Amino acid sequence: AAQEGFDAEEVEGALDEAGHGPLPVLAVVGRPNVGKSTLVNRIIGRREAVVEDRPGVTRDRVTYEAEWAGRRFKVVDTGGWEQDVLGIDASVAAQAEYAIEAADAVVFVVDATVGATDTDEAVVKLLRRAGKPVVLCANKVDGPSSEADAAMLWSLGLGEPMPVSALHGRGTGDMLDEVLKALPEAPAQTFGNAVGGPRRIALIGRPNVGKSSLLNKVAGEERVVVNELAGTTRDPVDELIELGGTTWKFVDTAGIRKRVHLQEGADYYASLRTAAAVEKAEVAVVLIDASESISVQDQRIITMAVEAGRALVVAYNKWDTLDEERRYYLEREIETELQQIAWAPRVNVSAQTGRHMEKLVPAIETALAGWETRVPTGRLNAFLGELVAAHPHPIRGGKQPRILFGTQAGTKPPRFVLFASGFLEAGYRRFVERRLREEFGFEGTPIHISVRVRE
Ligand code: GDP
Ligand code: GDP
Repeated sequence: AAQEGFDAEEVEGALDEAGHGPLPVLAVVGRPNVGKSTLVNRIIGRREAVVEDRPGVTRDRVTYEAEWAGRRFKVVDTGGWEQDVLGIDASVAAQAEYAIEAADAVVFVVDATVGATDTDEAVVKLLRRAGKPVVLCANKVDGPSSEADAAMLWSLGLGEPMPVSALHGRGTGDMLDEVLKALPEAPAQTFGNAVGGPRRIALIGRPNVGKSSLLNKVAGEERVVVNELAGTTRDPVDELIELGGTTWKFVDTAGIRKRVHLQEGADYYASLRTAAAVEKAEVAVVLIDASESISVQDQRIITMAVEAGRALVVAYNKWDTLDEERRYYLEREIETELQQIAWAPRVNVSAQTGRHMEKLVPAIETALAGWETRVPTGRLNAFLGELVAAHPHPIRGGKQPRILFGTQAGTKPPRFVLFASGFLEAGYRRFVERRLREEFGFEGTPIHISVRVRE
């Protein structure tokens, strides 16, 4: 009776859809101009990824959600790389490195009309060493006459080349079938978590905000000797650090420590790295240089973490350098620029002096707790009932859409499905989210709300 107007199957379907956990990640790598971006667009079924790209403009988005044969996964487009800055070999190697670290499977795209080049061979070596499943895409096979070109790519030793025309869509279905065979149901990182490994933290932020300083500070002498932890398979880019009596895994720290200062053009590389770290982490600690104005880049990094559905802590670093005036303006900037993440716990730290380092762990724990919060259906509906009675949706066209009932479909981050008698306006949805937060906390976590409307 609580589910007026919706049958059980409909409800279950909505819950399945909304409740999905982290998705496996597919990286598309290859030399420039082999057709990676065209292929990514094909896979995600949109014209969104590439077309608007202008050279020299940093792309803030590198991952997209895709679905094939009923399975969902994430696709990483590495096509935005600016080859001029690094040279082709270095840029393609960086993509491969990304794929090795962050992806669950890789589509390696080769231009079949050109054949395998030395650069292609070099990537094959990197991919093989990584041991991730690889699907070889022989692209630009626009018709049967070029199938022979594809067959030549057997020589790469990556198994059967899948002849594809990303441009026309030819062969992409068969290739995606292969991709699904290669992709695990859920990301490897999730399996790790299921057996109760250390919690995973991504320490992210734009260059020079103090990431490596902070990492060094928290690591101190407390660095854990990894071999002592039974059953931990050690990824060399991750670092286990004991803090507040608990061992934490700082993921993808190689990029922080290596300090590859590529100067300009490093932006895209940095954003790939950030995406990789975020994918692997449960909680993102975004470091902001409090001595400087909050930048678009800071906001992009935060958005990446939020869109990936990770728990979030914001650490304002270099607090030791702030005078009263800067502190005043910082607060104003936070109010105007970072209002959308007002729910994230905040710490004001100095990686240099060690100020408030002890507050970092409690903030991370708070965020993870919010991220894992589950609201029982009874409590949720009692709350929704009161909310709807006290604050009904505005009447539109003589009708008043009502929330009929709701349920939490998942956690990490919390996902809700609301079943309604009509379309709920964006403003009303935001209002519901705000009230949900007031009622149940959710500190440090994004929350997803989807609405099902009874036909
Ligand atoms: P990326 O640099 O690897 O991302 O390559 P793009 O996706 O930007 O493609 C490079 C060029 O190859 C563009 O002009 C595409 O239109 C073209 N292209 C991509 N896929 C195909 C294909 O399957 N057949 C043909 N003939 N051209 C393609
Ligand atoms: P990363 O690029 O984010 O890893 O930043 P680094 O850790 O290399 O720091 C960049 C610069 O900021 C270095 O010169 C650091 O010494 C300095 N720095 C980092 N944290 C602090 C801090 O808390 N206070 C001050 N005054 N300087 C800092």
